[in-house]
Amino acid sequence: MNAEPVTVVTPEIREFAASMLESLRVFDGIGLAAPQAGRPLRLVVFDVPSQEDDADLLSQGEIELLPKMPLAVINPEIVSSGSELCEREEGCLSVPDIFANVVRPSRVVFRAMTLDGEPIECECGGLLARCIQHELDHLDGVLFVDRLSPAEHRRVDRALNRLLAFGKTHEFNRVVTK
Ligand code: ZN
Repeated sequence: MNAEPVTVVTPEIREFAASMLESLRVFDGIGLAAPQAGRPLRLVVFDVPSQEDDADLLSQGEIELLPKMPLAVINPEIVSSGSELCEREEGCLSVPDIFANVVRPSRVVFRAMTLDGEPIECECGGLLARCIQHELDHLDGVLFVDRLSPAEHRRVDRALNRLLAFGKTHEFNRVVTK
């Protein structure tokens, strides 16, 4: 299921974004996409922590966006992905208690719009790039567990099946908003 673009930022959308940010805070997450909170909209909230990395190594996106956290954006896109890949452990509020390594591009060019209509376009690396890719996948109905290597998949297979047997599917929705 693909989420729909947000065409107008109504007061109701702002309220919804605020409730998503509140969920992030409560569940101690770093990103949440609207479909996880039950709305098929291209709306994502981030609260990616600043890294202690050497500032020289930070991408332009981290330099620009990390100070703006928490940040809600609409209609986010990945314009392009770098060729270098990296492996990093991911978890997801919609797939509770499962953590596994996922290989993704290290850097992506990210484009989005803030709720106030401020355009964003920058190359992002680090945890921010990882979080962007994870959250944008949610807008197209893709979960991180769909991207596991066969070995990683086998490793978490039993826990995943337990979740599914619990009567949940890809729309698994533990993140409750008001
Ligand atoms: Zn997720």
